[in-house]
Amino acid sequence: MDDSRRKLYEGKAKIVWEAGPGEAGPGAEAARTYIVEYKDDATAFDGKKRGRIGGKGRVNNLVSALLFDLLEREGVPTHFVRTLGDREMLVRRVKIIPVEVVVRNVAAGSLAKRLGLEEGAPLARTVLEHYYKSDELGDPLINRYHLRTLDLAADPEIDRMESLALRINDILGGALEECGLRLIDFKLEFGRTDTGEVILADEISPDTCRFWDTETNEKLDKDRFRRDLGDVEEAYEEVLRRVTAGAEKWRVRRRGARASGGERPAHARGEWPAHARVFVTLKSTVLDPQGAAVENALRTLGYDEVKSVRVGKFITLELTHLSPERVDEMCRRLLANPVIEDYRFEVVPATAPPAGSPPPGAPTGTGGKGQ
Ligand code: UDP
Repeated sequence: MDDSRRKLYEGKAKIVWEAGPGEAGPGAEAARTYIVEYKDDATAFDGKKRGRIGGKGRVNNLVSALLFDLLEREGVPTHFVRTLGDREMLVRRVKIIPVEVVVRNVAAGSLAKRLGLEEGAPLARTVLEHYYKSDELGDPLINRYHLRTLDLAADPEIDRMESLALRINDILGGALEECGLRLIDFKLEFGRTDTGEVILADEISPDTCRFWDTETNEKLDKDRFRRDLGDVEEAYEEVLRRVTAGAEKWRVRRRGARASGGERPAHARGEWPAHARVFVTLKSTVLDPQGAAVENALRTLGYDEVKSVRVGKFITLELTHLSPERVDEMCRRLLANPVIEDYRFEVVPATAPPAGSPPPGAPTGTGGKGQ
């Protein structure tokens, strides 16, 4: 490490340095970057529990680097530039938005406690939460109204953080599954660049994610420290081993994809205009008076074969580009009421995709069936 470095900030698990001369590469790059050093210090329960996890700094730095790299390749902008050794990475300068975005696939931790759910219960749909980053207040759970009232982020920034968080969940969930890790939940932080772009920052590691073994559900993350489960260092090292092996597979697959005709086709990258068709119906457990009235009327007209009728909504969308994830988000946020309604959608390219791609009209994304 360069002695002339200036420490900008020291947190519970990381130190942020201004790069010393020559550390960050050419001058222009140094001016736009910081160095993040990952520590072995561990804290939990708002700093009330303290300790050290040997090798944690190295594991968190290397796991974060591999996962940031994967996300970048999948088109998610992150602050990661490159590693500078086992415990350090060079990152783009950002101003951290003081909001923690938590994504959950399975009930655990504070969610299980707050909602009275059994830890390990799968969630019918992904849960996204915001916490206000404030040590004095103990990082309280907040919603979009609080975010706006406190002026923590503008509406489009909140939208972007949420949609990036859901995309990150999709990418990481699949990639980690291949490494034998179930992504139970995780916390993300975002930052604003000089130009105001919102990008992923902070870290993605066993400190900030819950990883359970896919076969045994053994906890391989910071819960081993929080709950005194033992074998803490071993669990961190195991995550690094599995993610490193996974990263090799992900790279080989990308090389294979390039060799067999380049990057993913344009339509798969979401660069083609598209149509979406969304079908919304009341959940089967919810009374449907309109359906009942139509059913009655059909029977009165002599259509005795009608066993039951449910009335729903059919919505069509014209899109500038094809993005099933965004349509799913639209359904969850506006088009359907997830408390009482199920939804289903299809997204199809509006014009002929390039040669070698599915023919026009072929479904390119379905899903989002509400539970
Ligand atoms: N988390 C984090 N930093 C925090 C709080 C939570 O990285 O300050 C992560 C935690 O590791 C877990 C997810 O966010 O993967 C959800 O944590 P939860 O709200 O259940 O809190 P906890 O049980 O850690 O108190």
